[in-house]
Amino acid sequence: MPQSQTRFSAEGLIIKEMNVGESDRLITIFTREHGIIKAFASGAKNIKSKKAAGTSLLTYSAFQILNKKGTFRIYEATPIASFFTMGTDIEVLTLSQYFCELALEFAEDDVPNEELLRLFLNSLHFLTKEKRYPPLIKAITELRTAAICGYMPNLIACDGCGKFEENIMFLSLKNGKLYCEECKKPDNCVTIDKTLLSALRHIVFSEFKNLYSFEIPPKSADMLSKITENYIITQTDYNFSALQFYNTIKEQI
Ligand SMILES: [Zn+2]
Repeated sequence: MPQSQTRFSAEGLIIKEMNVGESDRLITIFTREHGIIKAFASGAKNIKSKKAAGTSLLTYSAFQILNKKGTFRIYEATPIASFFTMGTDIEVLTLSQYFCELALEFAEDDVPNEELLRLFLNSLHFLTKEKRYPPLIKAITELRTAAICGYMPNLIACDGCGKFEENIMFLSLKNGKLYCEECKKPDNCVTIDKTLLSALRHIVFSEFKNLYSFEIPPKSADMLSKITENYIITQTDYNFSALQFYNTIKEQI
């Protein structure tokens, strides 16, 4: 092996794939060790290729990667878990793709973020394997991503008077602060009842091992999912195409 070429191992989730030429693919991997890495997978489009299974979208794999002057090539890819759902559940498939878009926006090149990777792996697991109610998993993923990546709302108490809880409170999507009826500001506030407030607090403050262990009625989960979605969009100004598609589908269900 020439000296300019080094080989390293990494584990990660494939969050984007793009065909390049006849039989190459450029895949984007959210790795445990190095954050986002883009690497070429030669011959991976060929179904007989040993690498094909390990380099497919929404697969978590162990990789051997060659680094040749800053260009990465997959040398070996061994699949560990696949979250790709074959079949007809378009809601689950679209949400999985939305989670990939979130990861692409929030994970960084060369910066490991194990907490965020763990969140996406668990959310995909609960969405595709455990078949939990999709809007609930969506809400957990959106708000916890925001909290991990510097957009944590302040849900401890009313920002005006310190009141901990009332039947109805208000969250400002703009500044991420909580208000009671008397203290609320006219700007972009959403109304939240006790169920929604405790769900929001759970998602932001709970230990990771307890993050997914709560249930709320589907109707509340739908409202929660709208709030977390509007929160993350207001805070970041990002535009997620899979999310728009997801909302189109939901309108038709
Ligand atoms: Zn108040």
